[in-house]
Amino acid sequence: MNPKPRLLLLDADGVLWRGRTPLPYSAEFVGRAQAAGIRCVLVSNNSTKDRATEAALCSRMGISLTAGDIFSSNYIAGPWLARERPGKSVLVFGSELLQRSVSQHVERCWHAPQWLAGQGLSEFRADAELYVLLARLRPDIVLSGMDVATDYLRHALACIAIQQGAELIGTNDDMSFPVEGGWQLPGSGSQLAMLAAVCRVEPLVLGKPGLAILEQIELETDVERSAMLMIGDRPQTDIAMAVNAGIPSMLVLTGVTDRATAESLSLPATIVADLAEAAAILGI
Ligand SMILES: [Mg+2]
Repeated sequence: MNPKPRLLLLDADGVLWRGRTPLPYSAEFVGRAQAAGIRCVLVSNNSTKDRATEAALCSRMGISLTAGDIFSSNYIAGPWLARERPGKSVLVFGSELLQRSVSQHVERCWHAPQWLAGQGLSEFRADAELYVLLARLRPDIVLSGMDVATDYLRHALACIAIQQGAELIGTNDDMSFPVEGGWQLPGSGSQLAMLAAVCRVEPLVLGKPGLAILEQIELETDVERSAMLMIGDRPQTDIAMAVNAGIPSMLVLTGVTDRATAESLSLPATIVADLAEAAAILGI
């Protein structure tokens, strides 16, 4: 491993904080890395928070990351669509913040509830007239992200659009996320999987382990991959993205993975108990 990377790619939950509580050494770790001349950026699959919201959260926890250091699926979706799907229209089936982020880069961009309200539709009813109305939108792309306010009508709109030929793109495919009490709640990936199953299509996924977030970081930081190090807690997303990109990685045990599991997976990642051990290895 490169002992002194120029850029640290940090996952958020399970690395810097857990739920709404900062992990003990996270603020100090970021401060020490920055003092040693190593830039830190947050690499998050979360599509529900924009840069400013995420940066405010860091600030409240004493973690010195600013809006420009936040690379989430919410932030990168718009630039990615503008770059990779220029001129295409997008139906955002996700949070209002996701729609606002995307609409800064995509000219024809609708938020599902807004479009439905504009048609005078507020609830699902099983009749042919409704399906004709829903089929009028015809977006080129359906962008699926976490939507805690979703309902059957929005699902019907997205499904009809996909069956008309819209490309299904997901901000991420995290099937669930852990909350206080040890429960797992439906994640963005569960909605994406449902749309894919109903419409029998294979979605394209922007978030980790995909490389769209990393590509945006490369565009904005000008740091080559060989000078980066990924630190995450989830083998299937954080470490898999690093492997896909040829970037070295550390797996911290402060999140969803315990030591026995980490060791049984024979990952090409350095296993560290926490960020304090990561700092010691990096010499910061
Ligand atoms: Mg995590």
